[in-house]
Amino acid sequence: MSLSLEQVLDQLRTEPDWIAPIQAWEVQPAHPGQYADPPAVLDPRLVAWLRSRGIQRLYSHQAEAIAASLRGEDVVVVTPTASGKTLCYNLPVLQRILERPEARALYLFPTKALAQDQYAVFQEAVEELGIPVKAYTYDGDTPTAARRAIRAAGHVVMTNPDMLHAGILPYHTRWVNLFENLEYVVVDELHHYRGVFGSHVANVLRRLQRICEFYGSRPRIIACSATIANPRQHAEKLLGRPVRVVDRSGAPRGERHVIIYNPPVVNQQLGIRRGVLPEARRWAERFLRNGIPTIVFARTRLAVEVLLTYLRDALGDGGERVRGYRGGYLPRERREIERGLREGRVLGVVATNALELGIDIGSLQAAVLAGYPGSVASFWQQAGRAGRRQGAAAGVLVASSSPLDQYIARHPEFLLSTPVEAAYINPDNLYILVSHIQCAAFELPFRSGERFGDQPVDDVLTFLAEQGLVQRAGDRWHWISDTFPAHEISLRSAAEENVVIIDVSRGARVIGEVDRFSAPMLVHEQAIYIHEGQQYQVERLDFEENKAYVRPVNVDYYTDAHLAVDLKVLDTLATRAVSGGEAARGEVAVIARATLFKKIKLYTHENVGWGRIHLPELEMHTAACWFSLAEGAVEGLPPATVQSGLHGLAYLLGRLAPLYLLCDPRDLGTVAQLRSPFTGRPTVFLYDAYPGGVGLADKAYEILELLWQAAAEAIDACPCEAGCPACVGPENESGSGAKAAARHLLARLLARAGEAAR
Ligand SMILES: [Zn+2]
Repeated sequence: MSLSLEQVLDQLRTEPDWIAPIQAWEVQPAHPGQYADPPAVLDPRLVAWLRSRGIQRLYSHQAEAIAASLRGEDVVVVTPTASGKTLCYNLPVLQRILERPEARALYLFPTKALAQDQYAVFQEAVEELGIPVKAYTYDGDTPTAARRAIRAAGHVVMTNPDMLHAGILPYHTRWVNLFENLEYVVVDELHHYRGVFGSHVANVLRRLQRICEFYGSRPRIIACSATIANPRQHAEKLLGRPVRVVDRSGAPRGERHVIIYNPPVVNQQLGIRRGVLPEARRWAERFLRNGIPTIVFARTRLAVEVLLTYLRDALGDGGERVRGYRGGYLPRERREIERGLREGRVLGVVATNALELGIDIGSLQAAVLAGYPGSVASFWQQAGRAGRRQGAAAGVLVASSSPLDQYIARHPEFLLSTPVEAAYINPDNLYILVSHIQCAAFELPFRSGERFGDQPVDDVLTFLAEQGLVQRAGDRWHWISDTFPAHEISLRSAAEENVVIIDVSRGARVIGEVDRFSAPMLVHEQAIYIHEGQQYQVERLDFEENKAYVRPVNVDYYTDAHLAVDLKVLDTLATRAVSGGEAARGEVAVIARATLFKKIKLYTHENVGWGRIHLPELEMHTAACWFSLAEGAVEGLPPATVQSGLHGLAYLLGRLAPLYLLCDPRDLGTVAQLRSPFTGRPTVFLYDAYPGGVGLADKAYEILELLWQAAAEAIDACPCEAGCPACVGPENESGSGAKAAARHLLARLLARAGEAAR
């Protein structure tokens, strides 16, 4: 007999082995909704349509945003998941098209999937209203034949920034109808546009506004964002104009339980806890067995597939009720899973953060997070996937053994009381700015003295003229090169180029894809690639052609590849003395090569074999900071001890620093070198895991002492004896005595000489 979520939670409270490992259990009270009448100016047809959908009154934030937008203001709506943000932009846009049928709107979503999702919502509204309004998605998949019709007749064009950048703006002369009549630009998922990608998008929007000006339009902007710490600052920087921020949600919310669970220690000496995947499986199974719609978030694609296998085995599910969802699934497969969730045919889903974005999957009741997702904002977005307007919901974080997760398990208040992170962009980063000034010059000549956004451009244009790309004639700068700049500039990192995965057993059918940077780890020869629970073995990886050939197999193990990372300093930009040596920051080349893979048995996680990987190395230039230890700081320590201390320190810093840099642990890499070819000393490097860097290493350089202090505290607080995954790394990875050695090095760096002997 199935229990309700409340009953399951009540039951858990009486079971000591479930309760003991729970570090925090917060109950957030239900919120009643706050409502307001639709703005009086709203067309009666729209009001009647709302009524037909059972909406007599709007949520207060919807009414405020719609009224402000109809008055001509630029609006940013900042509210939680499932608070009805779509109406905040669809209603003003529909109103305007009803008033003036020539009016046009452009919708931007960060992914094709979201654009298609919102297209379906808009289309349904138009059909119910029975009005002749045409909306289209326009992306790389749009057939050439359909493009002409969209350019001529589409009232609403839904696309993504990449397509706007390379497929619309450079061809603006074919889009005269759109640009002359553009009255609305909708930018959804604003918080997603941060870092390098966000800085590019800000410049694409500058180009859009420049073209609109040329055609004599000045569209209003409606943007939506999940909760971030600095919505106004971020929006104004991205959109390039002042905005009205609407951030008091009027949507009702049911009671929500937030539970932080730290798997119990099973080996005190090695500091080993029960695994995050089996424990997350236990939680999810408990919910799913009672018919409670549940989403499980895993940190990696591999973890998604392993958890999916476990859950299906546990529930005896043949693959209909519990589904996987991650990057690499093909669009139609994703659409089918999303529909299944909304319609209730699919009860559980195991996902990566690909589902963190606002894709509509209906309302789930429980979210289980297998590991901390890396930032406070992501945590609340994932936990918020479970949440209903009425009735209870639960979000459970199962901590992994990483230092970051263990820090949070020890300090749950960090998560429950810290405000979410801010989003940062730097549109004026010279490298990015120059790229887009080229695109803009291609699109329309610059007048001398013209500004791009708020940036003067004559200096950049003079530089481009020296390169033979533009030429000055009178007071105009003209593009004269025969290159097509937008095609050479990608808004996202090169790592997003994909390797397709081809099943050779069924007439060369494409079953999925993986980004090029991950390919050596995931689809090297002999790798077990798992897709929707089915195992495939990779027979051949053609790295030049971006193709991996696989065949279905049935084995009891998965593979895990080891990436060897080396680092070369290219340039030093700053140095400073620290107590045990010297710190610096600069530019580096990071060289990564997949070398070996291990075969790991399902369930027991035993190592049952290994093999070599023969693939070329990948090189990336990025920003780094580093610190090296002076002779005196390592005096009397055998090299092996220094080596394991450095490795332990690099391991720990790489996992703790994200707390202070407000980034995801995957955004940051570390390398330890016993005798660095550059400094000649024992050195630890921290680098940005993006080409060109996004400022993380620069900030780390400023706060090294703070990071060392946090590392020293983490080591002191960890109950293990000689090192474990929660502090300096497992003994077999960082070397024996890593914990004592790392403590020793930190003492020298923090100039606590008296404690060095401890
Ligand atoms: Zn430890």
